[in-house]
Amino acid sequence: MTAGSASGPAVEPTAPTTHASEPSREPRIEARTLKGFSDHLPESAARREWIMATLRKVFSGWGYMPLETPAVEYADVLLGRYGAEAEKLIYRFPDMGGRDVALRYDQTVPFARVIAQYRDLPRPFRRYQFQRVWRGENTGRGREREFTQCDVDVAGSPGVIADAETLCIAAAGFQAIGFERVRVVVNDRTTFDELGLSKGDIITIDKLSKIGEVGVINELARSGHDEADARELLGRLQDAPPPPRLKQVIAAAHDLGIDPGSLVYDPTLARGLDYYTSTILEVVSPDYASGSLGGGGRYDQLIGRFTGRDVPAVGFSFGLERVSDALASIGGLDHVHASPDAVVIPMSTSTLHWAGKVAAAIRAAGRTVAVGTEPDRPLGRQLEGATKLHARFAVIVGEDEASAGTATVRNLSTRDQLTLPLSEVPTRLA
Ligand code: AMP
Repeated sequence: MTAGSASGPAVEPTAPTTHASEPSREPRIEARTLKGFSDHLPESAARREWIMATLRKVFSGWGYMPLETPAVEYADVLLGRYGAEAEKLIYRFPDMGGRDVALRYDQTVPFARVIAQYRDLPRPFRRYQFQRVWRGENTGRGREREFTQCDVDVAGSPGVIADAETLCIAAAGFQAIGFERVRVVVNDRTTFDELGLSKGDIITIDKLSKIGEVGVINELARSGHDEADARELLGRLQDAPPPPRLKQVIAAAHDLGIDPGSLVYDPTLARGLDYYTSTILEVVSPDYASGSLGGGGRYDQLIGRFTGRDVPAVGFSFGLERVSDALASIGGLDHVHASPDAVVIPMSTSTLHWAGKVAAAIRAAGRTVAVGTEPDRPLGRQLEGATKLHARFAVIVGEDEASAGTATVRNLSTRDQLTLPLSEVPTRLA
């Protein structure tokens, strides 16, 4: 469960209250979260961790290395990179020393800064980065103000193989976490240049799936195109064949082993951000209707904004919240649980030493186990606690077990139980 502003109770502040029975205490503070910011309670957090661990395996399997960057950047590092629409959403404020700073809006621009700042990194430099980003969005389903992106990028490689690798990793990542029906949609930004489309036009076309053809034509007409021209322009775009470079990217992706059925060319795919220069891609799923699950592309001029010399780069970003939401909706996360496999229940303080040994043996066998902290509570209460925790087993340790070197394994759903020698306890928890 994700709790907080997205799905939780009232979040807007109300006046603090004092209680007549507690006159000397400070006024109480209402526990609340900001709109667009969420707590991830253990079940949700465990699912997120599982997705990240699975993606990390895929990314490192392709030779990508981890990177982390600060949450706060100098504002001038971020500004002027994304385009005016996007930049309205940047959290920007003066810090304690009066410096003009901003919260990370994505991980691509900080990556570009890192490439520019550390000149002796290997080239091509492949990195993955899983961190939070912040955007002052109008919130809604799939639209948070704080969310986590799982990015892969490679800098220093101008050729089509790097683009192809990005397509393959996007497909491999979604496949590894259990999506069977995702589509990697590709296009090339140069298609727009050839048709003489402006940045504003691109932002309008990016809304095609949201507002439909009529909506796009009307918006193009409002921004200065003649209505008939707008209609003709959209038609020409929809019929545009893939540019030669994109054809090579697609062929290389086939060579690198992508499932050809998962790759779709769409000349109307636009992507909102300014910094893309060539290949652009987005991953969509019929199981998720609130936007793309991930997006990326090639940005050959972004790093040059810091170095004065262009360094080609391409990458892709998985949006963790949307991916988690979509996967949960098809039951793809039902196997992930936050709770420990078992709770060891000492029936009195004098059996704690044996309970500790039993728990250590269970952990050594790779299972997860918590030890009851209230040995003097009645067994029934301790079992209730273990059930509420959603542990599957209780491992009961009384005086008899402690003196015989055994433990009693109880299945908390069937209530079957069996006393076993310690060496057999861990296998019983399977
Ligand atoms: P972008 O950096 O805008 O290309 O977005 C990359 C991915 O991040 C998208 O495909 C989404 O999965 C995710 N994403 C973007 N904006 C949001 C948001 N406001 N809330 C949650 N996820 C988002």
